[in-house]
Amino acid sequence: MSFEKILIANRGEIARRVMATCRDYGLLTVAVYSDADADAPHVAEADEAVRLGPAPAAESYLNVEAILAAAKATGAGAIHPGYGFLAENADFAAAVEGAGLIFVGPTAETIRAMGDKAAARRLMAARGVPVAPGYAGDDQSVERFVEEAAGIGYPLLVKAAAGGGGKGMRIVRDAAELPAAVDEARRLAQSGFGDPTLILEKYIERPRHIEVQIVGDGARVIHCFERECSVQRRFQKIIEEAPSPAVDEAMREELCAAALTAGEALGYRGAGTVEFIAAADGAFYFLEINTRLQVEHPVTERITGLDLVALQLDVALGGAVPPQSSITRTGHAIECRIYAEDAANGFLPSTGAVVDWRAPEMAGVRVDAGVERGSDVGIHYDPMLAKVIADGPDRAQATRRMIGALRRLSVMGPTTNRDFLLAVLRHPAWGAGDLSTHFIADHLADWQPTADPAARRRRLIAAALADATQRAGARRLMPGIRAGWTNNTGDQLPDTWSVDGVEHRLSYRALGGGRFVVDVDGAGEQLTAQVDGERIRLTTADGVTRRLTVIADGPRRWVGDLDGTSLCIEAPRFPDAAADEVAGGAVAPMPGKIVRVCVAVGDTVAKGAPLVILEAMKMEQTLTAPAAGTVVAIRAEAGAVVDAGAVLVELDGEEAEA
Ligand code: ADP
Ligand code: ADP
Ligand code: MG
Repeated sequence: MSFEKILIANRGEIARRVMATCRDYGLLTVAVYSDADADAPHVAEADEAVRLGPAPAAESYLNVEAILAAAKATGAGAIHPGYGFLAENADFAAAVEGAGLIFVGPTAETIRAMGDKAAARRLMAARGVPVAPGYAGDDQSVERFVEEAAGIGYPLLVKAAAGGGGKGMRIVRDAAELPAAVDEARRLAQSGFGDPTLILEKYIERPRHIEVQIVGDGARVIHCFERECSVQRRFQKIIEEAPSPAVDEAMREELCAAALTAGEALGYRGAGTVEFIAAADGAFYFLEINTRLQVEHPVTERITGLDLVALQLDVALGGAVPPQSSITRTGHAIECRIYAEDAANGFLPSTGAVVDWRAPEMAGVRVDAGVERGSDVGIHYDPMLAKVIADGPDRAQATRRMIGALRRLSVMGPTTNRDFLLAVLRHPAWGAGDLSTHFIADHLADWQPTADPAARRRRLIAAALADATQRAGARRLMPGIRAGWTNNTGDQLPDTWSVDGVEHRLSYRALGGGRFVVDVDGAGEQLTAQVDGERIRLTTADGVTRRLTVIADGPRRWVGDLDGTSLCIEAPRFPDAAADEVAGGAVAPMPGKIVRVCVAVGDTVAKGAPLVILEAMKMEQTLTAPAAGTVVAIRAEAGAVVDAGAVLVELDGEEAEA
């Protein structure tokens, strides 16, 4: 078993992260890409790259034939699947091995066995791994489910045996609801996963998600301790950490022993994760095994010093896993997933160009990014942009570093969850380690970004001064005079800059030496500014000098500094390119399938009322009324597949905000 070149069948941060280790390991690397990713960083960083096909994943990153052909064309001897896409596809693993290549992952049989939650549950229960009270039998009749449910007790969870990614689960709170829930779940399991098989599981209230990293070589399995991933939205993780604040040494021993039993039952080869759910009393139950590298693997790497991708390569080359006694841990690590999504609006994914991306360089902070400045966040793939990983001797120090890193991270363009992550990290319940999968619902359900009028004012000023400098063509300090502006402040005509449709009147007078008197909306202030290209140092009347970044993007100016989301400002005298969007209604933000239309023609709706539920990017999104109004037309029906930009519901809006 040997290979010198490896193909990474993935994109984004995980393709770059895997490639980095492969390069250090001595291997040559081959990237694959779709048309949407031709200029992506993972392509630029590889030794060779092969186009797979058009942007949709089905035609590119899920295109098994194209990937095998790429390996053949480049002479790659192995394929690393990353996570997502084909990573847990048993047929792909078999096809790779069938083509005489090495699949960096478990055997196809292991992947197949663990892809079925019913079979996995039965196998684990037989080996003595704790499973929640439940039913995973072959008799799938409603009568049997009703009978089993009576024994399990309510509430319980109906899960699709073939489900994944947080989908295909529903909570049933009493017996009367069960038959209908089973019918519905069966239908969804068939349509979503091609398999109607269901399992029942006791619903654990306010549980923690705790998982154990394992690595096996087919003969021996070792564990690399646990991670806690309880902070989730839509059953999907956004913050993970190691170790778990809820796990003491006795529980750790039990958890890790159970994970080893699970891995050994499979003769596990490669890296994997045994997921558990833990109840408030410390009892824990097997959920599933993810037969791949996990998104959150870096927190384990930070506390153990291991390189999990290197271990995967060792095993793929026929090597043995290191002895368990050599795996030790120190300190604490936290990972935050930076998603292009709007946390204040149902975590709706956002898209667009990444206008600025600068990750902080700080001790104890690792950033695994899939994007760089100029990247385009499109509609075709997962909206995770990057992961920030911070560590420290203890949880409090790791949290402090994470907050510092997130505050210093500059990301402009798509809306991101950065401020939301900060809100989680600053919440007293996070500080106390008091977590559950309901953390967001319990503590941050109504979260909104906080407005800081002073910061907004500074950003407007920075945008105006940067603009003036650029127009004057100056290279050094502000020249002070700008074409069309008079030196006479009394008569000066302010320019109108706007933010989210709100107009601000802004004027300034140069006093020389980089000093200005700036007037925003009628309130004047003396300040000093040094403009150096996109970088501005602004010293305000309170004596504080701040660094801001102003990036021109057509008629827009993106301005950021410490603390929070960048401001997108429309510069004066440029028509707004986005002005011809449909006013009032529900517009599909991305291609997707209509799950439900919630209104009928003639209905009057309030601002924020749900109009349509759309399924896209593996998530359900509720499109809401942008303003109060009356439904005048519906152009959507349940089950229909729609394109991005399609107008689904038309509202006759009262333009005024409700
Ligand atoms: P983790 O437990 O590592 O967070 P997730 O289950 O959230 O893993 O998914 C990891 C990756 O796999 C993500 O990129 C996600 O979009 C992708 N993924 C999850 N479920 C599916 C699925 N059913 N089909 C395709 N990709 C999936
Ligand atoms: P998936 O394959 O979609 O990742 P999992 O079975 O791993 O499905 O569960 C995903 C998430 O759903 C868990 O992290 C947890 O938040 C929740 N969950 C799963 N099973 C239970 C349960 N029995 N009780 C309460 N919550 C659960
Ligand atoms: Mg899971």
